[in-house]
Amino acid sequence: MRAIVLSIGDELLCGDCVDTNSSWLCGRFAERGVQVCEVLQIPDDRERIAHAFRSASGRCEVIVSTGGLGPTPDDLTSAALADAVGDELVRDETAVGWIRDRLVSRGHGMIDSQATMGDRPTSAVLLRNANGTAPIVHRADEICRVWCLPGPPVEMRPAFEQYIAPELPPGRSLASQEVRCCGIIEADAAALLGELIDRDRTLPVGTRVSRGSFIATVHEEGPESDALLADVAARLAPWAYGGNDEGPQHDVARMLLAANQTLATAESCTGGWIGASIVDVPGSSRWYRGGVVSYSNELKHRWLDVPMTRFEAEGPGAVSGEVARDMAVGIRATTGSDWGVSVTGVAGPDGGTERKPVGTVWIGISSDTADVARQFRFPGDRTAVRRRAVAYAMQCLRFAMLETSAPLALEVGS
Ligand code: ATP
Ligand code: MG
Repeated sequence: MRAIVLSIGDELLCGDCVDTNSSWLCGRFAERGVQVCEVLQIPDDRERIAHAFRSASGRCEVIVSTGGLGPTPDDLTSAALADAVGDELVRDETAVGWIRDRLVSRGHGMIDSQATMGDRPTSAVLLRNANGTAPIVHRADEICRVWCLPGPPVEMRPAFEQYIAPELPPGRSLASQEVRCCGIIEADAAALLGELIDRDRTLPVGTRVSRGSFIATVHEEGPESDALLADVAARLAPWAYGGNDEGPQHDVARMLLAANQTLATAESCTGGWIGASIVDVPGSSRWYRGGVVSYSNELKHRWLDVPMTRFEAEGPGAVSGEVARDMAVGIRATTGSDWGVSVTGVAGPDGGTERKPVGTVWIGISSDTADVARQFRFPGDRTAVRRRAVAYAMQCLRFAMLETSAPLALEVGS
């Protein structure tokens, strides 16, 4: 079964509103095994909307539109659907009753323009909107079923669950399952996946890069895709840290829990972001003891026992392997944790030097078995550098726990 999603509204085409409705609908359809073959964004223009309905109906079995059901002159979805199918608009008195009831229950009367929300194409039906005033428009013929949903996501999403989801045949999910990696460049990851990413396979593995992570996806659930996913994860080990919506900290959580160990963090340029990403993981209190943001040299010394000589003119400076290591050792000692992780770097845009350009980040790891500092050069602006530092700090910790000497991309010699 194929679906087309029409997102309607001027606000989408002038960049004022991000079309989250279509991405949400695509996700829900994929879970139900329905392939979304097109998403179209259309302005509040009756002819263009009618054209979109007409042309979509020959190319799919389900059309869902969102937006343009309200009472204002730019709300044209119902009229355009009527045009597309050669219907008149008729007023549906039952639906007008729902609209009046809802307005009255909120202490308002109904004015004429609001009654227009009860208009529908003659061959369509209106369905009650449990979370708003504008009824949902539904029309089915032998070729195609159409649902017109309201634009506000708080109304659109429950309407989908109530009226559309139960009408979809039980299908095998097409939702994507991911294997996410950090610290490997795309070409190297693709080489490891080899023939798995060939496009002519029945179950090809998709790949993309997002925010510094390499992501491999398998678009079907079932025994074959589970086996394929396991193969993908094995080929991308040790860079692969987890699946959908996970960061390396999720795997760190699994590993620390399994080893019954604890972690503490000492952050400089990441300003607490590592700690924040860690406490995003439910249950992190079982393995995360806490951390400090030791931004100034003075606090690196006072809180973490980094010798002040490190910061003197002839010393290595705050952004150095020595200080990263001192910070990791210091936080581990003061908190009594099994693992200490530290970050110190130059996030930019200022502060770079020839020896330590913007993007230079040192990550320190300390434990009974590890005492390492690794230097990276991250590309991008201040936010990108800091985001990478957060992910790489957790990835360095994973690699130390795994005792692997696999290389990490963007690492530079000391
Ligand atoms: P209403 O009765 O609120 O007028 P409507 O069906 O006419 O409902 P619109 O007026 O088109 O809906 O949109 C209302 C609001 O819903 C928009 O201002 C926007 O905030 C949100 N919205 C509309 N379309 C989308 C979309 N595709 N993605 C995310 N939000 C959307
Ligand atoms: Mg609108």
